[in-house]
Amino acid sequence: MKELLKKILNAIHLYHPLQLFYRQTIFNIKKVCSRIIYSKYRGEGFTCNVCGSSYSEFIPDYPSKINRQAIESNHVIAGYGRNILCPNCLSTARERLVIAMLSKAGLRGKKILHLSPEKNVYRFLKGKADIITADLVPGFYRNIDKNVKQADAVKLPFDNESFDMIIGNHILEHIPDDMQAMKEIFRVLKKNETAVLQVPFSNTIESTIEEPLINDPRRQSALFGQKDHVRIYQLSDYMKRLNTAGFIVEYIPHESLHEFFGFAIQPCEGFFHIRK
Ligand SMILES: [Zn+2]
Repeated sequence: MKELLKKILNAIHLYHPLQLFYRQTIFNIKKVCSRIIYSKYRGEGFTCNVCGSSYSEFIPDYPSKINRQAIESNHVIAGYGRNILCPNCLSTARERLVIAMLSKAGLRGKKILHLSPEKNVYRFLKGKADIITADLVPGFYRNIDKNVKQADAVKLPFDNESFDMIIGNHILEHIPDDMQAMKEIFRVLKKNETAVLQVPFSNTIESTIEEPLINDPRRQSALFGQKDHVRIYQLSDYMKRLNTAGFIVEYIPHESLHEFFGFAIQPCEGFFHIRK
């Protein structure tokens, strides 16, 4: 029944607009509630680098029951913990880390490909650089950029060395053929330029846990901690795959990002500095 309704709404081009409306309404209700509940924490502590608000505590976020086992038993650094969401704008810790890193990069006049654009990262970039956004299902991103292009990361519709930077924040763990996506990102990036490709990962598992062809949301939650993920990367294996695609990779551990701790970045998350 649900699938039939989805097909009908898709046929009349209403599925994505209705989904976006629903998600935006829930988001707005959450935002109003969190502003009221967290008003008592207003003041020094953490400052959001998206909206500029300061609170002594940000909102924690923990995996749902169905995802918890995979996340906790594999010690996945996946965007959960204390001080994750800004009580004022609901920006996420993973967005704030990427924005903090981008704020140190020279962006003026750059041509940037932003895959599966996250709202706050996109807004930060807009006006500073020439941004092209793309996703496999662009309908989900029209509220962020109405010009978002349809593109599959494993076959990007762009010429070699088209971009000065490519951003795909938490996308590779969703893609069955992640190696092909890495090669495509490498191909369309200019030499000596940077790709921002953060992923959830674990540094306690022995090897990457994956089942690229899985198509079973319940099992994906149980195995990978999210219904649409196909793997949990092991830290050094992730870097090795990027190397195989041609990139030079350096992992900046969380402890070395202390200048950003005031933005309430994700506990334990480091930054992958990825260069062609
Ligand atoms: Zn904020």
